[in-house]
Amino acid sequence: MKLSHRITHITGDGSDGWDLYRRARSLVASGIPVVELTIGEHDIRTDPSILNRMQTSALGGHTGYPGIPGIPALRKAVAERIERQTGVPTDMHNVLITAGGQGALFAAHQAACDEGDRALFIDPYYATYPGTVRSVGAIAVPVKARAEDGFQPRAADLAAAADGATSLLINSPNNPTGAVYSRATLEAIAGVVLDRDLWLISDEVYDTQIWSGSHLSPRALPEMADRTMVVGSLSKSHAMTGSRIGWVCGPAEAIRYMMDLATNTNYGIPGFIQDAGLHALSLGPEFEAGIAAPFLRRRAITQRLLAQQNIVRALPMDGAMYAMLDISATGMGGNAFAEALLDAERVAVMPGDSFGEAAAACVRVAMTVDDDRYAEALTRLLDFAARLSVGTSDRD
Ligand code: PLP
Repeated sequence: MKLSHRITHITGDGSDGWDLYRRARSLVASGIPVVELTIGEHDIRTDPSILNRMQTSALGGHTGYPGIPGIPALRKAVAERIERQTGVPTDMHNVLITAGGQGALFAAHQAACDEGDRALFIDPYYATYPGTVRSVGAIAVPVKARAEDGFQPRAADLAAAADGATSLLINSPNNPTGAVYSRATLEAIAGVVLDRDLWLISDEVYDTQIWSGSHLSPRALPEMADRTMVVGSLSKSHAMTGSRIGWVCGPAEAIRYMMDLATNTNYGIPGFIQDAGLHALSLGPEFEAGIAAPFLRRRAITQRLLAQQNIVRALPMDGAMYAMLDISATGMGGNAFAEALLDAERVAVMPGDSFGEAAAACVRVAMTVDDDRYAEALTRLLDFAARLSVGTSDRD
């Protein structure tokens, strides 16, 4: 039977960018030890107090069909959090609870884009962005940010790509680059969005992981609340990746229509997960800082080790749980380097190519194993790069 073009083209025609990750996984499955610095998942598990609340809620009977937009208490708690961050009046009617940030990304693009519309996003990008856009029938249009700008996008590049576009997706703090967009960058983005009448979809799932600078949501900028959909999640801030809970926050009318989408797709998020999410949010900023702390420590480890050599360079490292490393001095591109590193050192990192073209000279290191293993693996990576670069200069 013929399958729809839409579903058979979600990942496009080429690789989905996860080949190296799968190769590392299969080495591990066959008993070969590999230090996996690939996916963005904490090395700690969800806090027991959150799990206890989940269990109490489920045993207490919250196992029936949940309300579609989310339980009011959680929607209110999310709205209050966003109002605190942005200063923009926000209430529960601006919030839909979704299956993680990913569910929110999908819902926001469904709301913003018609079949065949151009949907912009910044390259380097989180791996699901093009597939999310294609799964709503829109055309995925990456717009390159440049390493020399610390991967802050330029307004002129966005404007040049904006003809026929209906949405722009941004992500700060950024996966994979670790960039945190400055106020100037966000104001320039807002300028293009207003000028070209776009929806701005602002993926803020790393908003608790800021190492330098501060988090500014574009929802807070003048005239932007009516055209911004903020994507949020408890996955990264509360180590709840497996609970699949997040939200989209936007104009009440957009949220009302996205409720129709929720009714006709997942039919709401389990009530006991939402109760646990509500409890997680009530734990406050100190708890969130504790979840983020290991990445801040490992960023310091990265900076210390990088300072001892001059082959590999770290790009921004201002936020999120990743270090984007420029390995071009080795004479290899990201893909070849990551494959060779896995073969030689049994250290798995993601090729920059997995996240678009703009980071093809880089590898992304997820700082997601304990500090000692992390330091050891990074040392091996740097020694490996040093050996390669000697080879490169020999050839010159
Ligand atoms: N957005 C970004 C930038 C991410 O890195 C991720 C996950 O890694 C997500 C969204 C989706 O996260 P979740 O669906 O677990 O909330």
